[in-house]
Amino acid sequence: MALIVQKYGGTSVGSIDRMRNVAARVKRTRDEGNQVVAVVSAMSGITDGLIKMAREFSETPSEREMDVLLATGEQQSIALVSMALHEAGVEAVSVTGRQAGIFTTGSHTRGRIQDIDPEFMKRSLEEGNTLVVAGFQGITPEGMIHTLGRGGSDLTAIAISAALKADVCQILTDVDGVYTCDPRIVKNARKLPEISYDEMLEMASSGSKVMQSRSVEFAKKFGVVFEVRSSLNDNPGTLVLEEHPAMENVVIRGVSIERSQARVTITGIPDVPGMSGKILGALGEAEINLDMIVSNIAHDDRARHSFTMHSNDLGKAQAALKQVLAEISPDARIETEAGIAKLSAVGIGMRSHSGVAATMFKALGEAGINIGMISTSEIKIAVTVDEPRIEDAARAVHDAFNLDKEPVK
Ligand code: ADP
Ligand code: ASP
Ligand code: MG
Repeated sequence: MALIVQKYGGTSVGSIDRMRNVAARVKRTRDEGNQVVAVVSAMSGITDGLIKMAREFSETPSEREMDVLLATGEQQSIALVSMALHEAGVEAVSVTGRQAGIFTTGSHTRGRIQDIDPEFMKRSLEEGNTLVVAGFQGITPEGMIHTLGRGGSDLTAIAISAALKADVCQILTDVDGVYTCDPRIVKNARKLPEISYDEMLEMASSGSKVMQSRSVEFAKKFGVVFEVRSSLNDNPGTLVLEEHPAMENVVIRGVSIERSQARVTITGIPDVPGMSGKILGALGEAEINLDMIVSNIAHDDRARHSFTMHSNDLGKAQAALKQVLAEISPDARIETEAGIAKLSAVGIGMRSHSGVAATMFKALGEAGINIGMISTSEIKIAVTVDEPRIEDAARAVHDAFNLDKEPVK
């Protein structure tokens, strides 16, 4: 008897009919002779709706209370899906994050899983139950409710798979798998049969929200192989696993986009040791996640730093920088630009192929798209462009690398 963890996202449990579909799928998996742990998200729109309500009171509501509020979305789902399973004749029990023994650390709304005590789940499975676990939530050792960051039900499913040593982990969603680009944006995007953890991680952290990036990190760390597939059909999905040599033949595995980015440039910084540390330290203390960082020395021998971040963080960043720049230099100036987006091309094949950046930049040039900042890592090339051109940019790069076609073996 195999133990199968299935995670159903917001759209997959988004209505009573969809919950019945989930129950039927879980029942089928059980009838095939498996034990099933279903991890479920809040119904689509519920988490956003709760956030909107909280913002009626304050732009910056208490994060402790946000966790208490947002965790209710998943709690509705576990009870309702369990009821759907009962109706289908399956002995199911709902399991909250606390009952699942998911212990977290870190800040409210950004909890990190520290440890899982799977005793309750193990016992309940041994008693013959099917478990319906609330995604996205955990508990601190002090008993506070934590949520795991947006898209955090993916992390719950992967972590539970590791803790229970599940035989199979499936992420069931509203697309058939991981595509070469978001299929809602690039119509001829192709479903990938497999992708390495590192590529999935780079794609997820640069805007491909099909997987939460921290869940992929966790899967890599604990060697959890998982499959992304549709909750609505039986098409084979995409396997996410450790890379193997044949994967390097493909130069670019996929393209991701991220909207709502902003750039901050600071000029007139003295070119002496310690400046970058002070500036980045101030932004770190303000809990701003920087993405691209580009520094150089201008013709006046002063340093110049540019950063990108989510545009929601722009105000906070400006406030933090004003303070530190006042200490550093009277000549320092801050310049900002919102309305930009980021395009990333990802592939482990980049390590052994040259000319990748040139192909990408040429494609953008020919499409008349101006490149702002550029950053590269071993397996990723990212550029910023004006936000209104981001979809054209994604299509141009996708075409330039022929991602719609099967790679030649
Ligand atoms: P769930 O609610 O099941 O967690 P999400 O909405 O979080 O689902 O993720 C699925 C969505 O991710 C798809 O509907 C798709 O628009 C988007 N997406 C972005 N990039 C990709 C990609 N490369 N492949 C597949 N889907 C992608
Ligand atoms: N409900 C949470 C969210 O919308 C978690 C999840 O769906 O994975 O972000
Ligand atoms: Mg998701």
